[in-house]
Amino acid sequence: MIKKGGFCVMNDNQLKAVHDDDLKSLLISLGCFESIVQKQCRCIFCDSIIEIDSLGSIVPKDGKIQFTCNRTDCLSKLTDIGEQDESI
Ligand SMILES: [Zn+2]
Repeated sequence: MIKKGGFCVMNDNQLKAVHDDDLKSLLISLGCFESIVQKQCRCIFCDSIIEIDSLGSIVPKDGKIQFTCNRTDCLSKLTDIGEQDESI
């Protein structure tokens, strides 16, 4: 489901692939593009600075937009969270 180098949006426990061409416009529409360019966003799991090249997924949570990097570890943790939420 998660392709290496791809982008995903998690919303209501759904993961969607986002094409590279769509990513910039998506980030702009979310108001996050400037923050990422200015290196103000960090991975919610490993706390590394998110850049366009290292962005793994976009996670809408509690009315905020959060990000994970594209490390396999972090992407798999994201999938784990989705599974946990479904069981609650
Ligand atoms: Zn990470």
